[in-house]
Amino acid sequence: MADLTLDEARKEVAALRDKLDEWANAYYTKDTPEVEDNVYDKNYNRLVELEQEFPQLVSQDSITQKVGGQIDNQFTKVSHEIPMLSMGDVFSKEELQEFDDRVQKQLGHEVAYNVELKIDGLSIALEYTDGKLTRASTRGNGQVGEDVTPNARYISDIPQTLPAKLTTEVRGECYMGKEPFAKLNAERDEKGETTFANPRNAAAGSLRQLDASITKHRHLSTFIYTWVNPPAEITSQHQAIEKMTQLGFHTNQTGRRIAKMADIFAFIDEYTAKRNSLDYGIDGIVLKVDDLDLQQELGNTVKVPRWEIAYKFPPEEQETVVHEIKWTV
Ligand code: NAD
Repeated sequence: MADLTLDEARKEVAALRDKLDEWANAYYTKDTPEVEDNVYDKNYNRLVELEQEFPQLVSQDSITQKVGGQIDNQFTKVSHEIPMLSMGDVFSKEELQEFDDRVQKQLGHEVAYNVELKIDGLSIALEYTDGKLTRASTRGNGQVGEDVTPNARYISDIPQTLPAKLTTEVRGECYMGKEPFAKLNAERDEKGETTFANPRNAAAGSLRQLDASITKHRHLSTFIYTWVNPPAEITSQHQAIEKMTQLGFHTNQTGRRIAKMADIFAFIDEYTAKRNSLDYGIDGIVLKVDDLDLQQELGNTVKVPRWEIAYKFPPEEQETVVHEIKWTV
């Protein structure tokens, strides 16, 4: 990198952005990825590296400054009053430690994290009016998502009515379990239809259907993990999860409030080992500053919250690199 001229860097940045935009469109909008995630991540990280080295090349329309992909115009659009952001990621415990150091430096003291599994699906937002489900939407580009309300009515673990007349919004992950995924692909294979690359794409392709009756037969599930506007007595992420569980949302019960990094590393090791025995896919572990006021204090960048981070598992063996990457342009 050191010997790259500005002109060479500009060309490489443009080529990376074109490629990443195309891959993101295939992945987010068409639900049919063209490359493996680790190939996408490697190219993405190279773009980040170049933009850091040559800040004059950063532009607002760079994929590093945007959430998700394009919105499918066939769906009704939903504005997210509070944007649905992406999440920063790290690939080693050292980088996780650096994240914790940054948080402590910004706040001036130690913090506890709610440590959760990173579910391999797609984000969904659920809005309730007087306790009734009135709207469900995808993340889309973070500011504007797609209306999938009729589809969400066919997901059996999404409460249509809450036990209290709340007007509120929760968010979480819509996913397809490993068993329904295997069944669906076997059926498609038998019919000569294209199979889904992974459960994440199967979930996205099954939720984002204009004909909701297709969603009905796809056995989707949710794990709800964010309460967008919790009542004042809820002051932490772990309390929010507890209360959302009581309200009837399907939440993941493996999350733990942990203060020491050594214990967080042990949680990572535990779920790296247990990962394959779960009946749903996970691609990492998420650390969220547990205290909601401290989350506010840390704030967000244009793309990610500063109070949470994903530790991504290394790619599984079958996920071998299918595309050679050339850095020089
Ligand atoms: P992301 O999927 O890595 O992380 C953010 C998302 O994690 C959130 O939006 C939320 O939906 C989800 N999540 C799961 N469990 C969660 C929990 N417990 N708490 C909070 N959030 C949770 O970020 P992204 O920006 O959506 O996508 C980037 C990822 O998509 C990368 O891993 C990349 O490899 C992949 N991608 C792949 C391709 C490809 O062509 N293969 C293209 C684009 C993106």
